[in-house]
Amino acid sequence: MTHRKFEDWDAYAQRVCAATNAGNLDWPQLPHAKRIMIDEGGKPFFTGKACKRGHVSPRNEHGDCTQCHLMRLAERRDAV
Ligand SMILES: [Zn+2]
Repeated sequence: MTHRKFEDWDAYAQRVCAATNAGNLDWPQLPHAKRIMIDEGGKPFFTGKACKRGHVSPRNEHGDCTQCHLMRLAERRDAV
C-alpha cells in the first residue's frame, strides 16, 4: 500500500462507484490524477469520469482514455 495524499472522500466514492459500474474493482487503487501517477512512476490513473466518447476507464500518461487508445489501435490495424 502506497501512502499518497488522499483525495477527498466524495471524489474517492465517485471513483469507486464508477469502477464498480465498469466491473473493475482495482481501478480505485490507481492514482486519481496524472501528477500522482507520475510521482508513482507512470502507471495509468483513474479519474472516475467518462472520456469524450463516454468510456469510464483509466487514462494513460497523455491523459488519453485507454479504451479510446485500444480503439485507435484496432482502427489502425483494420485499416491495413
Ligand atoms: Zn474513451
